[in-house]
Amino acid sequence: MNDEEVAAKLHQLRSRIDEAATDSGRPPADVRILLATKMVPAERITQALRAGLTLIGENRVQEMIGKADALQSIPHTTHLIGHLQRNKVTAALPLIDCLQTLDSSDLAERIDRRLGAASRDEQPSGRHPGSRSNLDVMIQVNVSGEPTKAGVAPERSAELVDTVHRLSALRLVGLMTIGLNSTDLRAVRRGYAQLRELRDRLVPGGHLSMGMSGDFEAAIAEGATIVRIGSAAFGSRA
Ligand SMILES: *Cc1c(COP(=O)(O)O)cnc(C)c1O
Repeated sequence: MNDEEVAAKLHQLRSRIDEAATDSGRPPADVRILLATKMVPAERITQALRAGLTLIGENRVQEMIGKADALQSIPHTTHLIGHLQRNKVTAALPLIDCLQTLDSSDLAERIDRRLGAASRDEQPSGRHPGSRSNLDVMIQVNVSGEPTKAGVAPERSAELVDTVHRLSALRLVGLMTIGLNSTDLRAVRRGYAQLRELRDRLVPGGHLSMGMSGDFEAAIAEGATIVRIGSAAFGSRA
C-alpha cells in the first residue's frame, strides 16, 4: 500500500470508531487509537505515523529493539502491550512510555527499583540517553477468567493498585484487559463492563485500554479510552 492508501484505511477506521463513540453518547475525542504493531515492519508503522497516528503498542521487547532505530526520527508514543519478562525490564524501560501489562507486585517492585537506580546514576550535568526516573503503568486484569490469559484476577486487583501507589517511580494511569475470545459479543461486553466498574472504583478517571479489531464497538460502548487495533489497520498477520 502507498501512503495515500494507508491514510485512507486509517481514516475509515477512525470514522468507525467515531461512530461507535457517538452511538454510545460519548465524544469521539475520548477514544484514542493505539496501533498494535506486532509483526508489522517498521516501514509500515512509519506510514501510519505519517498519516497522523501517534500511539503504537508492541508485544515483545526484542521486536521493539529491532524497530527502534527506524522509528526514532518520527514522533510517537510507545506502550508495551505484551507480557514483560523480569529479565527484560532494563532493556524495555528506555523504549516505552507506558507499560499496559503490569500484572504482579513482584514486577512492579522490580521496575520501581530499576527506575530508582537509573535516576541515582544520573549525572547532575544531564541525562543519560534513555534514562528516566518514572513510568506510567496500567494494570492488566483478566476479566474473562480464561486460564491462558495474562493479567491479575479482578478480586486481586485492588491489592496490586495499593502496591503501585506505594512505589514512587510508578504512576498508575489506568486498567487494561484482553477481552474474552468469543463471538458472543454480549459475553465480551460483560467483561468490558466489569473492567469499567473496577476502573471507577480503583483508578477513577484513569484510562480503560480495551477492545481490538473484532470487538472495539463493544469496548467503546463500555467506556474504552484506548482501543488497540492491529489487523483492522494493517491487514491480517496470517
Ligand atoms: C495483537 C494485539 C491486539 C490487536 O489485535 P487485532 O485483533 O489485530 O486488532 C490488541 N491487543 C493486544 C494485547 C495484542 O497482542
